[in-house]
Amino acid sequence: MTDDIYTFKVLRYDAKEPEKEAAFSSYRVRVIPGLTVLTVLLRIRDELDGTLAFRSSCRAATCGSCAMVINGKPGLACRTQVAPFESRTIVLEPLPNFEIIRDLVVDMAPFWNMYERISPYLIRHSPAPEKEIIQSPEDRKRIDQFVNCILCACCYGACEVMRREPDYVGPAAFAKLQRFMLDSRDERPDRFLESVNNGQGLWGCDTLLRCIDACPKEVRPTDAIVGLRKSLVKYRIKRAFGMDGHED
Ligand code: SF4
Repeated sequence: MTDDIYTFKVLRYDAKEPEKEAAFSSYRVRVIPGLTVLTVLLRIRDELDGTLAFRSSCRAATCGSCAMVINGKPGLACRTQVAPFESRTIVLEPLPNFEIIRDLVVDMAPFWNMYERISPYLIRHSPAPEKEIIQSPEDRKRIDQFVNCILCACCYGACEVMRREPDYVGPAAFAKLQRFMLDSRDERPDRFLESVNNGQGLWGCDTLLRCIDACPKEVRPTDAIVGLRKSLVKYRIKRAFGMDGHED
């Protein structure tokens, strides 16, 4: 039987040897149903080629570290099974819109820098309660979708705006910003949105929805961006009529 033998073509590049162009290495691996792309990569590294570089950790679609492009589409290697692919050739490439460090490992620093820009933590002004800050199940439901973001950066890799505008804040950061703006425990004022009221911020998105297609956790970053735009416009209208409670 040869129909369970797949060819894995993996893009190889080493930023320490920039004189060598990126090129594919091919590996033939026998695949059984249920095997994921990550399992195959681990096997290739253990048994065929110890020089192959990729990131992975939890193997359970929770840490987001094994994001890569699989047959042209960003996804998590740990949650992508091989057998359902019709083609017996699987092409693996690093996420686009990032500098490659080596093979499938990219430099995530720009992603984390943009994430930091939205202050991704609860901002409060009220005195801290003695115990936890209570949140009702209804209020928790409002942020469910955005809490699910595992910061894998698949959406960054799929984003057309990131391709031409590296300073764009990007879909994941906006999904997280909406998560905090909607969180009943967060007390940041609406004027926080002024920090992303520009072409590299909320108005940079072309609403092509590619981030939604790419997200392995069913987060909808474009919805977050549209929601944040609405909140910003409402805040601006209130401010124009002196109804925003702003006391600068
Ligand atoms: Fe990954 Fe989805 Fe979060 Fe983007 S929004 S970082 S694709 S989990």
